[in-house]
Order: sequence, then C-alpha cells, then structure tokens
Amino acid sequence: MRMVVTGGAGFLGSHLCDRLLAEGHSVICIDNLLTGTTANIDHIRDERFLFIKHDVTNYIYVEGDVDFVLHFASPASPIDYLELPIPTLKVGSLGTHKALGLAKAKGAGFLLASTSEVYGDPQINPQHELYWGNVNPVGPRGVYDEAKRFAEAMTMAYHRYHNVNTRIVRIFNTYGPRMRLNDGRVVPNFIKQALKNEPITVYGDGSQTRSFCYVDDLIDGIYRLMRSEEHEPTNIGNPHEMSILEFAETIIQLTGSSSEIVYKPLPTDDPTVRRPDISKAKKILKWEPKVSLEEGIEKTIEYFRQKLEL
Ligand code: UDP
Repeated sequence: MRMVVTGGAGFLGSHLCDRLLAEGHSVICIDNLLTGTTANIDHIRDERFLFIKHDVTNYIYVEGDVDFVLHFASPASPIDYLELPIPTLKVGSLGTHKALGLAKAKGAGFLLASTSEVYGDPQINPQHELYWGNVNPVGPRGVYDEAKRFAEAMTMAYHRYHNVNTRIVRIFNTYGPRMRLNDGRVVPNFIKQALKNEPITVYGDGSQTRSFCYVDDLIDGIYRLMRSEEHEPTNIGNPHEMSILEFAETIIQLTGSSSEIVYKPLPTDDPTVRRPDISKAKKILKWEPKVSLEEGIEKTIEYFRQKLEL
C-alpha cells in the first residue's frame, strides 16, 4: 500500500515509517521539522520512501494514489506546548482537517494519533475508552488536549458523514530511541541527568503516576489497529504504572548513576495518575506490550549515551 505519514520525521512518526517500509509498503513522509528532524529518517535508504517538507496545517498535495493517511504531526511535550501553543492547536485542528481531506479525496483510510491527554487529569484509574475525561480547556496543556479532542471529533465526523474509513489511537506515555534529548519530558530528562551524574529533577513530590510503553510495542499496536476495522478510539500503552519518584529511582539504578533526587514545582494541570486500560486492544487486536521497562530503558539509555557522546 502507499502510505502518507504526517509528522514522519518525529519520534513516533519515524518509527512508524520504518515499520511500514518493513511491511512492504511505500511511504510518503510529510513533516515541517518544527519538532521533528531529518536525523530520524536519514538511515532510510529506500526508493519506496519519499520525504516532503511541508506544514500540514496548509493544503496537502500528494500526487497519485494513497491507501492510508496516518496523522502523527504535532508537538508532543509539555514544554513544546508552552513554547508553541498556536502551532500545537493548529496542527491538531487545521492539520487534522487537511489530513482527513486528503484521505477523503484519495478514498484512503485514515488513522489519527490521539492521546491519553484527552482524559486530562482523570477521575478514574485506569482509563478506559468510554471515559470522557477531565480536561482544563484554558490551562497551559489545554492547547494540546483540546486540539486532540477536536481532532477526534473531526475524525468521527468524517467517518460518519463522509464515510472515511478512520481509526483513532489514544497513545499513552511512550519512550525509546529518537526521543529528543531536550524535549523536557521525564524520560529524556531523567536519563540525561543520570548519565551526567547531575541531580534528577522530580516535579512535585513525585507521587504522580505514569505508565511507560516502549516504542516498538506501541508501533505494533498501531499497525494492528490500522489493519483492523475499529473506528472508535482505542488505547495503546503499557499498563505497568509507577510513581515518578519510583521511576527516578529505577533510572538511577539502571544507569548506575550517583545522581541525587531534587524536587521542583509541579507544572500546572500535571495529571495525578495515568494508566491505560488495554482490555479492548487485547480483545480486538490481540495486542499487549512485550518489552519490559528494564529492557526498553536499557535500549534508550544506549541511544542517549551515543547522543551525549558519553
Ligand atoms: N517530570 C518530572 N521531572 C522532569 C520531567 C517531568 O518529575 O524532569 C514529571 C512530570 O511532572 C509528569 C511526569 O514526569 O508528572 C511525566 O511528564 P512528561 O513531561 O514526560 O509527560 P506527561 O506525561 O506529563 O505528558
């Protein structure tokens, strides 16, 4: 099949391009390189791969047939939302509209990369797909959360009104090689700090929880969802939940670091808990994560070691 991946030079997008090529598909990767980088796709030497530098909030022109559009373009880290609030809103809203328009025009399938952030600061734990969430629309994270909620609504409207063959994946915290060293998220921050024996910055008292999924597991779940016929949102993530303090201790242990833990203020609207209920993915996609935290973190540490030239 001929695939379009928006955000294809980003962390998840580039891993998705790799997987699609490995499955025998052709890939057109579209990215404006705002938070993505060609370094993530430089290794691809394949005539079935085409990179187009383009901002998908503007009309997307693709020559020839397209079988599937996978919309992964978006800043995705809380510090990005603070620095890029309007591009974040635009790519989730206008960008989703353009990507859906492309799918409709080509008679292609469409997959939206949505997020656990649609659940906001959840009042239930774990979060299942039927929970409507608890989002602050006007807080600093609202630009991402609301754009993705709009993107889901737009996707369902194109499905119901235009009969576009759509999918929605709600992605939970994911980590692995090609995360940006300076993207401000907890995984690169802690690993970088640990490798340099600098203080590990835990925000708040570290009792807030997250559940981390290794990128290969996530991409496998997304690939299965693409091949399914499921139109309603589907959670993909690893249900292994831990507190951020526990996570800091794990990173110190796995890197053999002498870093100490220091406490910093908790960012506004930082969710107190987050854990996917993956019973739906297990049932309809026969999917569950396979990579343990230790194994995944080891691979990620190796990547950051090379990047930091340590
Ligand atoms: N966090 C932290 N120290 C850091 C970076 C993040 O304690 O240096 C915390 C953050 O407050 C949040 C969790 O780690 O509770 C995950 O943050 P991240 O930015 O990775 O993404 P989020 O899950 O909040 O979207």
